[in-house]
Amino acid sequence: MADTFVNIVFPSIPRREFTYRLPPDYALPAFPGQRVVAPLRNDRAIGFVINFTNIPPKTVALKDLYEILDPEPLIPDELFRFLLRLAHYYLAPVGKALAAAIPREYQLHKKRRLMVTDIQPDNLPEPYADLYHRIAAKGSILLSSLTAKYQRPVLIKGITELKRLKLITETPIFKATEKRRNLEKTINLAPGIENRLLEIQTLLKKAPRQGEIINHLLKNRLISNTELTRFSAAAIKSLHTKGYISITVTDRTVEQFWKSFHLKEKQIQLTTEQNQAFDTILKGIRSRKYTTFLIQGVTGSGKTEVYLKLIHAVIAEGGRVLVLVPEITLTTHLASRFRGEFHDKIAIWHSGLSHVQRNVLWKDIRAGNYPVIIGARSAILLPLPDLLLIIIDEEQDNSFKQQEAEPRYNARDAALLRAMECQATVVLGSATPSLESLYNVATGKYTKVELTSRYSEAPTATIHVVDMKEEWQKTGEYNVPVSALLLKKIREKLELGEQVILLQNRRGYSPIILCPDCGWTPRCRNCDITLTYHKSTSQMLCHYCNLSELPPHSCPRCQSTHFLYPGYGTQRVESFLREKFPNSEIVRMDLDSTRRQGFTQKVMEKFEKGVIQIMLGTQMIAKGLDFPKVTLVGVLNADIGLFMPDFRARERVFQLLYQVAGRAGRGEIQGEIVVQTFNPKDTTIRCAIQQNLPKFAALELNERNPLNYPPFSRLAVILVSDTNLTHVVDAAQQVVQYLQPRHKKTEILGPTPAPLSKIRNRYRYMMIIKSRKETDPNGTHLRNILSNFLSSETYNKISRQAQVSIEIDPLDLL
Ligand code: ADP
Ligand code: ZN
Ligand code: ZN
Repeated sequence: MADTFVNIVFPSIPRREFTYRLPPDYALPAFPGQRVVAPLRNDRAIGFVINFTNIPPKTVALKDLYEILDPEPLIPDELFRFLLRLAHYYLAPVGKALAAAIPREYQLHKKRRLMVTDIQPDNLPEPYADLYHRIAAKGSILLSSLTAKYQRPVLIKGITELKRLKLITETPIFKATEKRRNLEKTINLAPGIENRLLEIQTLLKKAPRQGEIINHLLKNRLISNTELTRFSAAAIKSLHTKGYISITVTDRTVEQFWKSFHLKEKQIQLTTEQNQAFDTILKGIRSRKYTTFLIQGVTGSGKTEVYLKLIHAVIAEGGRVLVLVPEITLTTHLASRFRGEFHDKIAIWHSGLSHVQRNVLWKDIRAGNYPVIIGARSAILLPLPDLLLIIIDEEQDNSFKQQEAEPRYNARDAALLRAMECQATVVLGSATPSLESLYNVATGKYTKVELTSRYSEAPTATIHVVDMKEEWQKTGEYNVPVSALLLKKIREKLELGEQVILLQNRRGYSPIILCPDCGWTPRCRNCDITLTYHKSTSQMLCHYCNLSELPPHSCPRCQSTHFLYPGYGTQRVESFLREKFPNSEIVRMDLDSTRRQGFTQKVMEKFEKGVIQIMLGTQMIAKGLDFPKVTLVGVLNADIGLFMPDFRARERVFQLLYQVAGRAGRGEIQGEIVVQTFNPKDTTIRCAIQQNLPKFAALELNERNPLNYPPFSRLAVILVSDTNLTHVVDAAQQVVQYLQPRHKKTEILGPTPAPLSKIRNRYRYMMIIKSRKETDPNGTHLRNILSNFLSSETYNKISRQAQVSIEIDPLDLL
């Protein structure tokens, strides 16, 4: 190799590359994407190889790379190139993007287990023979237990060389240890045992407990995992050592996840329309060139069936498929349908997996053991070889956006980047595509495929709109969550043994506590936001920083002891419903209740079985509105969110209501929808109820175009935050001063205080940058200014004073 230096990034040090020397006598070849250990500051750290160079660094003293960890790159080449693209597009640190794509355990270099492989060491190099035999004696050994016995350089060279010869492999150790693995053992008689019957006779007499096992095996052929406890573990071990029995271990760690889904199998003939969609997309896939399709199909039109058939076609051609869905535990019917179709060819990937499950599954996926993966957003980072098709169901869904940690990406858009890298096809599916996707159809970036008719002849649901202002006038009660009409309907359905779903898009008990005498209401000390009252814990909670306080006995401003609790959150609706329907099983689904592990899955199972009659929840349950026995859906307050200070507020309300209103009774029975609103004349609400996507889209686009909002432009938000307000204001000014003379074609708004102007004691100022797509079609210009900013002296200076973060294509402007 001509290049002698290697550039490395470390996840812990964003936006910097470090150059090291490749020691000339290194046994393992280095590749981009490989993990290495390198000296860093006064310690060592795991980094990733980015590329090679002949140019030594000028400013710092050159150091040698300490160790190459993987004989082959851990991150396959295609994935590696995609991750670089992703980091580049989202202006995210490369090290963080790479780290996000591998299980966390691979980033710890101090806890490693070395294992011998089954390759026979014929010509063991003399200097490493001792090391090899020491590992072989135990089968596997912790690296840390060897460090006292060998000098570091000798040990590292030895390990590297033994890895190169494929005599040993290594895995990281999980903190959770291997205990949480779910291993199933089965025991059989060892082959050829018939010839040793005499030996066995003797054994039966000498060791009765071992004899018992042999007898059992002679009769029943095997001992299953569940029967295992009936026999002595010592006796089993002893028999195994003597070679009388064989033990098979099956790893059910990943498998067990599917237990709670029951399989749904169906034999299906696509309709003419579905078949056309299938043919068009299959042609795209067969071209083996990057293409994106948007399937716009009303709820129940059979999008899922088209996906399934496409996946079968791809598998038949030796390709692999990634399916991204918003919330697996909430859309169990979808997962069950997929499982019923692909059985053990499909793996599920989402945040509910344990570390151990993740690690096992990740390796299996990398090895190509699963042709299909269904998963949440982070599945887009999986090392799936021969990826030919990426399907994204409900493409408009917000949960595809990774908001919290770098890299901040939208999995839907990331899918396009990945497909470009591996020449795959992307299929976006939705009944209510985002305006961005519709725009991309209009400009020819995507090909639209429409499914216009519902498969089943089930009549569409009847929709009743209840004007809550009138309800208030009629009853004299402004503070009722459920109108008389909806109450009546719920009662009717329960009597018929049918099920009800109620949406209330706000959690907690009451949004505020209010002193009617002086208007005082409690606010969070750390955030510029009111506290929400949670009755179940008698606490006032901040939904942003989790501050909790007990409500005061008297108003701190006027000493009045009488408080009002206006408005409704899910908890309050729940207690209202329990009072009205004491004999029904009611469940509440919101961020608070679903935090418990496994809760959601259990509820979904019970609901499907009909054990629960009323499901009440925030918009999180809207995705799973697919239960045949649900015949009534109530939206308690359609207005929530309508007036949020965000240009997408109306689009979100539209999508939610459309989704609810568009659902047919999946079964035979016609569904009914009750929408309660204070604004029955609002165009967004009207369009949604009338299922009029074209009209809504036209109105909305007309408003956004002159204001330069997406889909007409690309956005970036720069957020400056610090505990010191003066620092924030000053830093924000400096950012704008830097950008003003350089931005040319873009528009800069701000700096202004963010709508949430203080969170967790940090003041927040923001700037919005808009870059019109006509003049900057790929966002190159926008990205260039911002990446120049990130590598500028100004940024360095500012970031010492306040935290500066940049988000590309933000979904929330809060
Ligand atoms: P979508 O994903 O568009 O909401 P689905 O694919 O879930 O729609 O289809 C709705 C229902 O109709 C499902 O129960 C599905 O199995 C059924 N269905 C759709 N197309 C067909 C078909 N061609 N033959 C039989 N059943 C179908
Ligand atoms: Zn008061
Ligand atoms: Zn707070």
